[in-house]
Amino acid sequence: MRLVTFSVDGVVAPGAIVGDRVVSLAGVVAELMRRDSYGTRVANAACDMTRLIALDGPRLDSVRAEISRIERDGRLGQHPLATAVALQAPVPRPGKIVAVGRNYADHAAETGMKPFEKPRIIAKLSSSVCGPGTVVRRPDGIAKLDFEVELAVVIGRPSKDVARAAALGCVLGYTILNDVSARELQFDVAPAQTTFAKSMDGFCPMGPWIVTADELPDPQDLLLRLWVNGELLQEGRTRDMIFDVATLIEYLSRYMTLEPGDIVATGTPAGVGAFRTPPRWLQPGDRLALEVSGIGRLEHTIR
Ligand code: MG
Repeated sequence: MRLVTFSVDGVVAPGAIVGDRVVSLAGVVAELMRRDSYGTRVANAACDMTRLIALDGPRLDSVRAEISRIERDGRLGQHPLATAVALQAPVPRPGKIVAVGRNYADHAAETGMKPFEKPRIIAKLSSSVCGPGTVVRRPDGIAKLDFEVELAVVIGRPSKDVARAAALGCVLGYTILNDVSARELQFDVAPAQTTFAKSMDGFCPMGPWIVTADELPDPQDLLLRLWVNGELLQEGRTRDMIFDVATLIEYLSRYMTLEPGDIVATGTPAGVGAFRTPPRWLQPGDRLALEVSGIGRLEHTIR
């Protein structure tokens, strides 16, 4: 199943793509909230997709039942065409985005630094999230704007002290994320300002949808690619991750509770702008396309 956050006629709602249509799940969220009596576990949910995930859990039983009802009753044609709605980031304001640095062997090699013995954890602040098709502004004074195609894991249930063998059961699904970075603040200053460098407005294009985990049972068998203006600049496979998705969830959940709708950005393969000769910095007018096999294609531009 593909989950989206979409707007039509100015109304934003979580939804599911069914065939060529988008089914709104706003009613499902309202019903789940009524049943949950506005439970405290979702009181701080920053958006309806977060609420939906928190209340329906990683298996999405209520969502699946609603879609079955619509299909059985022959009402699918009453819903808008997917091509007629505007997509936002599937989780427009995640509670947290935990990013992992230098997590692909080929990317670690191109940096010239030794791979880490433990995952390198970086916070990417949620206000940087934007959706498919966004025009990302290069901030004034930033010259070393860079790209990182990443597999983004969407957490499906509160997860603390999860054993590696159970870790993938905490995953709702997967989407695509560009870990946009201002390299001068990451590499050229002391101390490094990594969180700041990766959290400016628009620095986290994400989407176009979440593919649920039942459709991607092996997240370590995916192809990631990124093009700028049609030129293929990154190509890698998730099997080359140094710390795989299950290991990352086990490691993180030892120290922090991963919550529904949280994002784990799992790192990027080789080919980023900073380590090319000469470096390839993003410029106004650049068009980016990011693909992860089994998920789809995320596009955005720079101005
Ligand atoms: Mg990254």
